[in-house]
Amino acid sequence: MRNLFFFLLLSFSVCNAQHVSIKRDSISSTKDTIFLSVKNNMLSPMFLKIIPIDSTSRSIVYTKNTVLQPSEKLIGFMKVPRNILETDTSKINLSNYFSFKAGYGDPSTVKHNNTYQYLLPYKKRRKLIQGNFGKFSHDHIASNHAFDFGTQIGDTLYAAREGKVVMLKEDSKKHGRTRKYINDGNYIIIQHDDGTTASYYHLDFKGALVEKGDLVQRGQVIGISGMTGFTTVPHVHFVVHKATVDNGNVSVPIQFEGYIGKKFKKGKRYARKK
Ligand SMILES: [Zn+2]
Repeated sequence: MRNLFFFLLLSFSVCNAQHVSIKRDSISSTKDTIFLSVKNNMLSPMFLKIIPIDSTSRSIVYTKNTVLQPSEKLIGFMKVPRNILETDTSKINLSNYFSFKAGYGDPSTVKHNNTYQYLLPYKKRRKLIQGNFGKFSHDHIASNHAFDFGTQIGDTLYAAREGKVVMLKEDSKKHGRTRKYINDGNYIIIQHDDGTTASYYHLDFKGALVEKGDLVQRGQVIGISGMTGFTTVPHVHFVVHKATVDNGNVSVPIQFEGYIGKKFKKGKRYARKK
C-alpha cells in the first residue's frame, strides 16, 4: 500500500476549476478492498455524483449521489476490489475506473432567483473579452453563462451579490494558455441565499481581501483582479452556478443592474452604472 499513490482530480470542468484530491490519508484498505474517503473543504454543501466506467461498474461499490455538508467527510464512499486494479504499476490513476460530477450546493434546495440584479464585479469601463457560450472556454454547461471581463491586474473586485465566502484560493502565481493551468487560478466563491454560488476567477497572488466564512455585502470590496490559471490575458471570469443532480455545477443566466434586457457583446466595454 505504501508505494501506491492514488491520484484523482475532482475537476469541475469549468474554464478554471477548483479541484479536490483524494490524498493518501483518505485511503484505507484490507487485503481485498480499497476504501476511498472524500472531504468537502467548502463551507457550502457539495454535491457529488460518482459514475464508474462500464467495465468496472459491477465491481465497485459506491455511493452514487451524495450531498456532503461543510467539512463533512464521507468515509468509504467507494470500495474498490484490489483484483480490478492494475498491479504492475506504482501509480494508479483512479480516473481509469470512474468519473464524477460535482456541484457547489444542494440540488434539492437550490433555486436561482432570476429577478436578482447583479452588480458588475468591477467599477471602471472594461471590455468583455469572452461572453456567454464563448468558444474559447465557455463551451461547457458549467461555463456557458460565464463572462470574462478584461479587468487589469490590480483592479479592485466587488461582490456582485451578498452572501457567504465558502471557498477561496490566492496562493498561485502561475498562468498559461492550456487547460494544464486550470487549477492554478486564484478565486473566491460566494454562496447566495438561494443556494447558488458566484465564482470570481483569476485573482492576483494574495488577491483575496476576504476570508473563508466571511459574510459579504453586495458591492463590498472582495479582491484584486489578476491573471492566474488558464488564461492568456488579465481578466475576471464571473459565473453563477447551481448544483444539479444530472450535471453537477451548471451555470445560470443572470442579469446585471443597469443592463436589464441587454445582451452583453464580446469586444464592447461595460462599466458599473453606480
Ligand atoms: Zn471565462
